[in-house]
Amino acid sequence: MSVQLPVEPAELLRRHGVQVTAQRLAILRAVSDRPHRTADDVAEVVRAEIGAISRQGVYDGLGVLVDKGLLRRFQPAGSPTRYEDRVGDNHHHLVCRSCGQTVDVDCAVGTSPCLHPANDQGYEIDEGEVIYWGRCPDCRKGAGDGRTRQSNRKSATSTRGGEQ
Ligand SMILES: [Zn+2]
Ligand SMILES: [Zn+2]
Repeated sequence: MSVQLPVEPAELLRRHGVQVTAQRLAILRAVSDRPHRTADDVAEVVRAEIGAISRQGVYDGLGVLVDKGLLRRFQPAGSPTRYEDRVGDNHHHLVCRSCGQTVDVDCAVGTSPCLHPANDQGYEIDEGEVIYWGRCPDCRKGAGDGRTRQSNRKSATSTRGGEQ
């Protein structure tokens, strides 16, 4: 009998003991609308919605939401920190080396740590961070700059065109 009804963002904040402010609500919404956003990206969306907010204000808001377990953050190598509202599971990420597109991958085990080293050397391990790297379907087709703003294709790469 544990049907999860969608919870209003304000109620979600309260349940996690976070004081409800317009900024925090806007930050939470920005991240749930499009997970894996960077702080700068979140700032842009929040500014469009509620007007002026400092960069620091956005970072602080994100920090509170992460601390209180409403958001999770992760940082692929070479990328700014990214935020998402899918918390409470141990999912992993697939990152495209060409365009940076990031998607979720379910963890086969489900609980952290899902990877155990051959020798833990006496450490108490609570997390095995997994990021899969490769090329997304768009980039494999040679059309990787369609939807992302951070395409960084080198000019000299040769792409095969015209297969469709
Ligand atoms: Zn890509
Ligand atoms: Zn994710």
